[in-house]
Amino acid sequence: MKLTRLDLDGAGSPSALVTRILAAEPDLPIPVPVEELCTCLDIIAIRELETEGFEAALVTDVLKASGAILVAGNRSRQRRRFSIAHELGHFLIPLHLPPADGPLLCSAKHLGMHDVKHADRRRRMEAEANRFAALLLMPPPALRAELQQVRRLSLGDIVRLADSFDVSKEAMARACVDYSREAIAVIVAREGKMLRCYRRDGLFPWIAVAPGQPVPAGSVGSDRLPEGKASAIETCEPELWLDLRDAGKVAAMTEQVLWQRSGFALILLNAEMRDEDEDETEAVDRRWQGRL
Ligand SMILES: [Zn+2]
Repeated sequence: MKLTRLDLDGAGSPSALVTRILAAEPDLPIPVPVEELCTCLDIIAIRELETEGFEAALVTDVLKASGAILVAGNRSRQRRRFSIAHELGHFLIPLHLPPADGPLLCSAKHLGMHDVKHADRRRRMEAEANRFAALLLMPPPALRAELQQVRRLSLGDIVRLADSFDVSKEAMARACVDYSREAIAVIVAREGKMLRCYRRDGLFPWIAVAPGQPVPAGSVGSDRLPEGKASAIETCEPELWLDLRDAGKVAAMTEQVLWQRSGFALILLNAEMRDEDEDETEAVDRRWQGRL
């Protein structure tokens, strides 16, 4: 690789940095060789550390001439790759400076933050590092090209793409929500309760089931299936997940669930939205009459 930090000069945001990296390395292979990239970009060591309470850390000084990345041991390869990319993000984003008294320590919670506009500076920083990691490991041009080949996204596609980009299924599901043109949402549940959901504003309606609430009875996600096996794609009533007004905007909805280890499940919702010029109230009435 020919990439050096000079290629990134002047780039400050996650997307600007990844754009420069992709421009300097147009033939970057998939899965992205994140540790090799680190070496090109002045990360002199990547080490595992057995410490409770944090997932990854960046050791550097305020001048950031070079850095070292520490990652928690005993994690999946995908988790390790994401953690390394996240710390590389902190290292390359000029405004992300380590505290004066030691390394920048990132917890599992930090690695799940996604609100880049959050009022709290640290949370914003973590969300930016996560955004950098997602863009780097799933470069938008490569992911878009893959998604263009898919007609109706299924959990099977998400699992296949996660394997080929060597990222976790949840990270890939999130990226698919961001880049797919379909109205999809992904719900992460554990032991039958909603944990979090990913949807794109303006494309998929608000999900009325709040974190902590049970997966609605009647959803495919309420039946426990063997780990690692995706269910069939089933049609479902939009009212299971949406409030009545939003449900009226949906012409048809399908659900699919994939159970994972430790009681985790991914539920993919795929909506076909009604034409906007149709009258909403009429559609709601029609839906309800159809149910009686
Ligand atoms: Zn961090």
